[in-house]
Amino acid sequence: MTLLQINSFAAGNWIAPDSAARPIEDAVTGAVFAQAGNGALDVQGMLDYARTVGGPALRAMSFHDRARMLKALALHLGKHKQALYDLSFRTGATQADHMIDVDGGIGTTFVFASKGRREMPDGQVYVDGDTEQLSRNGSFLGQHIYTPLQGVAVHINAFNFPVWGMLEKLAPTLLAGVPAIVKPATATCYVTELCVRLMLDSGILPEGALQLVSGGLGDMLDRLTLQDAVAFTGSAHTALKLRSAPHILENAIRFTAEQDSLNGSILGPDAQPGTPEFDLFVKEVCREMTTKAGQKCTAIRRIIAPEPLVQPVIEALSARLAKTVIGAPELAETRMGALVNSSQKRDVLEKADIIKTEAERVFGNPGDFTVTGADAAKGAFLPPMLFHCADPDTAQRVHDTEAFGPVSTVMGYRDLDHAVALANKGQGSLVASVITRDPEVARQVALGAGAFHGRIYINNRDSMKESTGHGSPLPHMTHGGPGRAGGGEELGGIRGVKHYMQRTAIQGSPDILTAIGGNWVPGATELVSKEHPFTQRFHDLQIGQTLHTAPREITLEDIEHFATFTGDTFYAHMDDAAAQRNPFFPGRVAHGYLLLSFAAGLFVEPNEGPVLANTGLDNLRFMQPVSAGDSIKVRLTVKKKTKRNDEYGEVRWHVTLTNQTDDLVAEYELLTMVAY
Ligand code: NAP
Repeated sequence: MTLLQINSFAAGNWIAPDSAARPIEDAVTGAVFAQAGNGALDVQGMLDYARTVGGPALRAMSFHDRARMLKALALHLGKHKQALYDLSFRTGATQADHMIDVDGGIGTTFVFASKGRREMPDGQVYVDGDTEQLSRNGSFLGQHIYTPLQGVAVHINAFNFPVWGMLEKLAPTLLAGVPAIVKPATATCYVTELCVRLMLDSGILPEGALQLVSGGLGDMLDRLTLQDAVAFTGSAHTALKLRSAPHILENAIRFTAEQDSLNGSILGPDAQPGTPEFDLFVKEVCREMTTKAGQKCTAIRRIIAPEPLVQPVIEALSARLAKTVIGAPELAETRMGALVNSSQKRDVLEKADIIKTEAERVFGNPGDFTVTGADAAKGAFLPPMLFHCADPDTAQRVHDTEAFGPVSTVMGYRDLDHAVALANKGQGSLVASVITRDPEVARQVALGAGAFHGRIYINNRDSMKESTGHGSPLPHMTHGGPGRAGGGEELGGIRGVKHYMQRTAIQGSPDILTAIGGNWVPGATELVSKEHPFTQRFHDLQIGQTLHTAPREITLEDIEHFATFTGDTFYAHMDDAAAQRNPFFPGRVAHGYLLLSFAAGLFVEPNEGPVLANTGLDNLRFMQPVSAGDSIKVRLTVKKKTKRNDEYGEVRWHVTLTNQTDDLVAEYELLTMVAY
């Protein structure tokens, strides 16, 4: 049989495997069907190509350009996902598993595309937080900004999610403006190779933005610089080896590690048999044990139940696991496919034997189980295996041995503190879950276990229909965990993009900060035009463009009219003596909302024009009371522009209201949609 040749993509060329290639097994038949790896790969050439061709091309684009590029990629992959599904069956994964890997990866790319457009500017600098006032009169300010790293991101991925594992790293990297070299695990690199081919053939990516290493990385990591970053997913063992390399340490090269972890799920004391929570717990644990044949970094490895419920949990779980059809992944009735290859199966059995030194096997016999539609002796099939550890306090192996397959251990807890202590015995996990309807139980677990876990998932009858699952990392939420889990963090919306950028504290005058950040900073030059800014279209408005209005006096009649008209007859506006007893007011004062309404009346341009709608106010503060006889005037300045589509964009205006002695009365940001 001729072997499928899994190529690398280096400096614009597809490179076939050579004599250094490693064999790749079909998970279901056990036959070697492919090979990958080229000992002569020019890794320096790949790094140079990314740094000199891909990086400059990506950095020339704005965040919005790159977000649109991600959306186009996701749409393109969506059209070709059947080819990815078809190939993925060889990894042992079922159709339901493909939904997590292929659809999950595409969905993650869509989320970053959308967040990039909504939450990042249409420019090249991402401003982090407000300005800091560093001087008495505001002529010298501070601001934090992010700019993209000027090197390359090397992504080293685990075998279990050949598509999602790549895309969850690639989407934030490309959005940041950094090119990537992807190195999938050899065992499943043929699926990643197809996905990379699809993306490259689409012509959507600029040249040099994406390269692929199928097989070994050679000495690429020894050639990285301070402008590069490594994002690793895999075992704690490999992570330690790679991150402790002298070159990585000496040059302080960013190294993010997502490793294995001994995730726990706690059954709340309120979740007695017969409650929806008990059934939910059993369902979630069963799903986590069998999805991807348990080869999920977030899978539930430790099942933590109240001591009196240990036996009922074992019985209910065993009954459910017994219904799991193990078989050929492409069969519709199969609920659990094969592990990725025979070596992974051997590894899981060895780890299960270690767990067995401290726990008794209560379900699943690897020597006796049924496989539907495939040869159990040839494929990497295993049954789900459930263990019971009677003494989880003195046990250690059940808390630190990750059998990366369908293996989990039940253990009992005496009280909630004990449950939290057991969860934390994993020494840092990606996720802990608690199934409870009692908010106090949830609060105690969050407080006690938060510092040990990257994510805490709480579920009960109220949320179960829409909940996303203990084991599903979401692009909106951070993924990663402390200690044993690697100490890394990925995803989490725009937080995930920042891992590929440098945060820099910029100090300077308001004009300088405005020029760098692209947002108008209070104190910077105001551009006062003859035309009213509301008569100008989105693309004609300039950052800093300002309108100063005439003043308007506030009368007692205005205050009383507004009070009776709106029904807001709060005593501070109506009763002088009562208002004076209040520490904030000199006597009767105008309503804050009256001032806002008058402000709108002062700055509005009433005729039909490019301003389409007022969509909100942010950061509103009333600083000083306004009494009858005072007057207010308004300054309105274009602070930030965000194009939404070809028809309109959002304009954020910085607005101040000042009184007759120029004291600040109110400040806010006004949001409008303006025609493009
Ligand atoms: P692994 O053996 O540690 O391999 C991970 C990656 O490292 C693979 O791409 C592997 O490539 C590469 N690698 C190994 N040695 C290397 C070296 N000397 N230089 C450069 N790269 C090297 O892990 P795995 O077996 O693929 O995945 C299973 C493990 O990953 C489990 O422990 C699981 O918990 C963990 N995992 C964690 C997460 C998470 O997000 N935290 C997600 C999924 C999986 P080769 O395949 O070519 O050797």
